[in-house]
Amino acid sequence: MIKVSKFGGSSVANSKQLKKVKNIVESDSDRKFIVTSACGKVDADDYKITDLLYLTFAHLKYGVNYLDIFSKIENKYKNLVSDLNLNIDIESELNIIKDKIKKGISEDFLVSRGEYLTAKILADYLNFEFFDAADFVSFNFDGDIDLDKSKNKFFERFNKKSKYVISGFYGVMPNNEIKVMSRGGSDITGSILANIIDADLYENWTDVDGILICDPRIVKNSKKISYISYDELREMSYMGANVLHDEAIFPVKEKNIPINIKNTNEPNDFGTMIVSNCDNYDANNKPSIITGITGRKDFYVISVKKNHISSETGILRKALKVFEELKISIESIPASVDAFCIVVEKKFIEKYQYEIVSRLKSDLETNEVNVIKDIALIAMVGRNFIQRIGLAGKIFKALGDNNINIKIINQGSDEINITIGVDNKDFEKAINCIYNHFVLNEI
Ligand code: ASP
Repeated sequence: MIKVSKFGGSSVANSKQLKKVKNIVESDSDRKFIVTSACGKVDADDYKITDLLYLTFAHLKYGVNYLDIFSKIENKYKNLVSDLNLNIDIESELNIIKDKIKKGISEDFLVSRGEYLTAKILADYLNFEFFDAADFVSFNFDGDIDLDKSKNKFFERFNKKSKYVISGFYGVMPNNEIKVMSRGGSDITGSILANIIDADLYENWTDVDGILICDPRIVKNSKKISYISYDELREMSYMGANVLHDEAIFPVKEKNIPINIKNTNEPNDFGTMIVSNCDNYDANNKPSIITGITGRKDFYVISVKKNHISSETGILRKALKVFEELKISIESIPASVDAFCIVVEKKFIEKYQYEIVSRLKSDLETNEVNVIKDIALIAMVGRNFIQRIGLAGKIFKALGDNNINIKIINQGSDEINITIGVDNKDFEKAINCIYNHFVLNEI
């Protein structure tokens, strides 16, 4: 069995956390490929190394003294090395970076040093070989990962007998310059590696017990999701849940490799399994109706009414053209017989709202164009909603009984998502209501 185990920033924040990582790795001989983020925060008053590196670069760029900030980074790494009694020559490593800074360093190179140094330290501590992401993770000129090239480069260096610690978050451009991914990108490195080596499991170690059904800031003591499909997770992350980097799903999904979200502080907890089809795993459990509930506030709904709208050809195209010309992306378009709505994020539409209304009125030849503001969208993600007869009605009733007015409702064509729109002010109350009815009480 081959496992890729990726540890996030909080798992490698200090020597105490690194000891937990060592225990986890050593407790399972299948854990031969370890990917790491840069050291994260120990507690709320601490700093993430990556943030400090970005800050160092900003100081450099504007000619402001950066030494104070950089010394926080140096201290973090020096302390790790001395606390764990490691052999790595951290002074020389830091001097190389300082020399580069004096000669002119790129932002991406500087920022990548967080993962680079953390991986070097972890490799020394685990007695694994250090594998620099720059030696295999390859980007195209357009910034996408070149998976074939990355795979070829990986196997040029790979030795079956070795165990590796790999730095996350960065790779190289075709001209060999370092490029970092978007924030949280070490998840992607782990996923690419799992794809390249055909892993059986991609473990993603973090500081929570897994993915929760609802955001715990909204629903106290929300239950955890044990199994979720790749597609359900995509829906959840799109609507606001944030556990794994969005892009990390694709490389493992392509090869059907399950992802296990695990807690470094509670390694015996099962965590959450992300798989292609939950039915294969949940066979003995009664599958719950709703896998997860998530959402975002601050949308505008533009409603367009006109008699026989649904039989008028081209009307939707005319409406969408208005948005396209203003380069405004649309969230969804729920429709009924004589009306349709265009749902757009407030931040995209706020300043164009009057222009849009008047253009829709004239281009679509109707006077009934209205803007409903401050709408929150709530997505219920689950399996085979279409087969759950009367579910939409039950949702309406549950919310209605709690005086929550549903402004729009939309069921995704892939049957795994029902989205409702409520007033921003009802957002938290509605999520709690749906959770209580459909998760706690399974009505
Ligand atoms: N260190 C980077 C960040 O903080 C990447 C990662 O942690 O995955 O965003």
